[in-house]
Amino acid sequence: MHFTLKLEVTDDTGHTTLTDLITLHRGDLTAETLGLQLSESHQLLQALQNQMLATQLQSFLVSQKQCLTCGKTLHSKGQHHKNIRTLFGDFKVSSPRLKRCPCSSQAQKTSSPLSTLLPEKMTPELWFMESKWAALAAYGVATQCLKDAFPVGKALSKVTLRRHTLKLARRCESRPLPDQRLLGGRSERSLQTMPLPNGPLMVGLDGGYVRKPGKQGFFEVIAGKSHLQFTRDPEAVLPPVRCFAFVQGMGASAQQRLLGVFKEQGFQSNQTMLFLSDGGDSLRQIQRDFCAVSEHILDWFHLTMRLTVLGQCSRGLPALKPTETAFTPEEVGAQLTRIKHYLWHGNTVVALETLDELVEPLNWVDKLPAPWQRILNLLKDLQTYVTRNRGYIVNYGERYRNKEEISSAFVESTVNWVISKRFCKKQQMGWTVSGAHLLLQVRTQVLNDELEQTFQGWYPGFHKPAA
Ligand SMILES: [Zn+2]
Repeated sequence: MHFTLKLEVTDDTGHTTLTDLITLHRGDLTAETLGLQLSESHQLLQALQNQMLATQLQSFLVSQKQCLTCGKTLHSKGQHHKNIRTLFGDFKVSSPRLKRCPCSSQAQKTSSPLSTLLPEKMTPELWFMESKWAALAAYGVATQCLKDAFPVGKALSKVTLRRHTLKLARRCESRPLPDQRLLGGRSERSLQTMPLPNGPLMVGLDGGYVRKPGKQGFFEVIAGKSHLQFTRDPEAVLPPVRCFAFVQGMGASAQQRLLGVFKEQGFQSNQTMLFLSDGGDSLRQIQRDFCAVSEHILDWFHLTMRLTVLGQCSRGLPALKPTETAFTPEEVGAQLTRIKHYLWHGNTVVALETLDELVEPLNWVDKLPAPWQRILNLLKDLQTYVTRNRGYIVNYGERYRNKEEISSAFVESTVNWVISKRFCKKQQMGWTVSGAHLLLQVRTQVLNDELEQTFQGWYPGFHKPAA
């Protein structure tokens, strides 16, 4: 049996041509030869793409041979071969260079219609799919998946994939930034005359660490998520939750980046902001810049995590030799429970006093056994942490009863979602600071489902390939 696929092309004048695209042969039917196969579909798509490209470009180039203003025929200045990359294969086409018409005011003496049409030498759809997949999986894996699913050109490698993805990110990074005047410099009075803002904008911030190449250590990546808690207009749709991530010192400042995110969620100068984060200094500084009407809360998750670690260590403690300053392991456990209780109610004063009651006597014990020394160090760390963050430790219990957010699986999951899943801490894998930062810009767009919108900004007729 033979299956022949023919392509009928009707041009603008109504003239029709018929071309054979592909013929598929089948002998006796087996499970393997039933229906169309993937490799055949690749051949078919490639053949179809080849015909479509050739026909469309031929008619396009004919139309470009005349000056669009005065209609004069433009002289050829030769041609060169161009490689056009598409999702359905790479194609060599000849690209003419034409003399500019004397009526043109442009300084350049020649023009290349094809370069003007396709400056990136690839179709937007290919660029979109490459970047989207690279944002979701390792470059090598994404390359292989693209090759399995589509008849992309053989030349596609993880190196090209990375180059195209980072090129997209750089283009996004060069977009104009939101006006920082949105942030402040407004008088109390003008803030009061503004329309009432929507509900608080809840922002979770956290830092994660990504490995540099070789043994150069790690660098910090900031990631977070923001969402508007309610709109004043009950009919209005809540803007979607947005995640963001960046490396500080790369391009725009942290507040400009965040402002860009918040603006999409309807941020205005009198917006109430609620920041949840752990006690990192870099994160704290970012939040301070949003001073309008903001509240900063130390994420309960980070606080309680330290207590959990302490609790686990205290369970394995050996008994200390009886001295007047020694505790039993049970006493340590009980004190820790009290500290947690005070912190839960935002009572940092008593929490610190209780911590002190544990730390001070242990400080005086001679030759503390190693497990006890570990507990002592952790307790001191906690002291420092609570002292430094005392202004951000709130009455979590009360907030919890009022069904207000206190913590973040919310923040923690974002870091995992945005950073860890793509920048896994495999030993041999290393990231350059700019490579990671740029990829994060594409990755957050994919996770926020904004990449299509970005492409539509550059290519108004673009639609994301149907899922
Ligand atoms: Zn002209």
